[in-house]
Amino acid sequence: WAKAAGRGRWAVYDPERSARDIARSALVAGLPAALDRGEFVLHYQPIVSLLEGSILAVEALVRWEHPELGLIGPDRFIGLAEETGLIVRLGEWVLRRACRDAERWWREFPDARLVVSVNLAARQADDPAIVETVADVLATSGLPAELLQLELTESAVMGSAGEPLRSLHRLAALGVRLAVDDFGTGYSNLAYLRRLPIHCLKLAGPFVEGIRADGTDAVADHRDERIVDALVRLAHALELWVTAEAVETQVQAERLRALRCDTGQGRYFGAPAPAEQITDRLRGGGATRWA
Ligand code: C2E
Ligand code: MG
Ligand code: MG
Ligand code: MG
Repeated sequence: WAKAAGRGRWAVYDPERSARDIARSALVAGLPAALDRGEFVLHYQPIVSLLEGSILAVEALVRWEHPELGLIGPDRFIGLAEETGLIVRLGEWVLRRACRDAERWWREFPDARLVVSVNLAARQADDPAIVETVADVLATSGLPAELLQLELTESAVMGSAGEPLRSLHRLAALGVRLAVDDFGTGYSNLAYLRRLPIHCLKLAGPFVEGIRADGTDAVADHRDERIVDALVRLAHALELWVTAEAVETQVQAERLRALRCDTGQGRYFGAPAPAEQITDRLRGGGATRWA
C-alpha cells in the first residue's frame, strides 16, 4: 500500500514542471549546434585594484546569443553542458577565445599586463587532458602564461576522487594563476588549501552582500564583515590575493578596502560587457570610478 502511494505521487501532473522540463531539454538539444554556429559570446567583467582603482584583470563570462530567446546567461546552460559533457568542448572554446582576446589587449596595452580569468567547470578540471589543452591554447594564442588565471570552485579543486586535483600542480607549473571561485560557499578544506598552488581566493558574493550595501546601519553584529576580515587575513597569511565578488556600492568597496581586500569585481566597477568595451576602457587608461 505504502509503496503504491509513494509511486502514485510520482505521477501527479505538474504543468509548471513539465513546461520547465521541455524548455530544458530544448536547450540541451540546441547546445552542440549553437557551438557549431558560433552563438556563444564572451563578456568580460573588470577586476579592479581596491588600492589604485586600476583594472588588473577581467573575468570571461560566457553567454548564449540564442536566435529566438535572446541573450541567455550561463546559469541556464552551464549545468546542462556539464551534465551532457558538452562543457569540455564549450570550455575549450571559452579558453581559446579568452586567450585570443587577452593576447590582443596585451599587445595593444602591454603596460596594463591585463590578466584574463577563465572559469573551469569541475568536469573540465577533472580531465587530465586539461593540462595539454591549456598549454596548447597558450602556445596558439601567444598569451604569456602569467596573464591567464583559471578559476575553480572549492569542489572542483577537490576533484571527483575527493582528493585535490593532481592537474593543479601541472597547471601551476605552466605558469598560469589559479583562483578558488566562490570561496566560502563550499566545503573549504584548509588542510589542502595550504599545500595547493593557488594564487587567489575569490570571496563569494553573499559575504559582500552582507556588508552595509546602502550605508545605513547594518545588522548590529556585522557578522559578514567579520567573516570577510577573517578570510582576508587567512588568505594573506597564505600569501594569496583576495578578490571580492559582487561589489555593488561605493560603501562596500570602501569597507572592503579598509578590510585590506586586494581587488573587487561587481556592478559598481562595471558589469560584464563585450570585449570592445574593455578595449575602450583600457584606451582611456584603464581608470575606473574608483580611481
Ligand atoms: P562566477 O564565476 O562566480 O561569476 C560571477 C557572476 O557574478 C557572474 O554571473 C557575474 O555576471 C555576476 N555579477 C557581476 N557583477 C555582480 C554584482 O554586482 N552583483 C552580483 N550579485 N552578481 C554580479 P554570470 O555571468 O551569470 O555567471 C554565472 C556563473 O556561471 C559564473 O559564476 C560561473 O560559475 C559560470 N560561468 C560563466 N561563464 C563560464 C564559463 O565560461 N565556463 C564555466 N565553466 N562556467 C562559467
Ligand atoms: Mg568565476
Ligand atoms: Mg564567483
Ligand atoms: Mg558563481
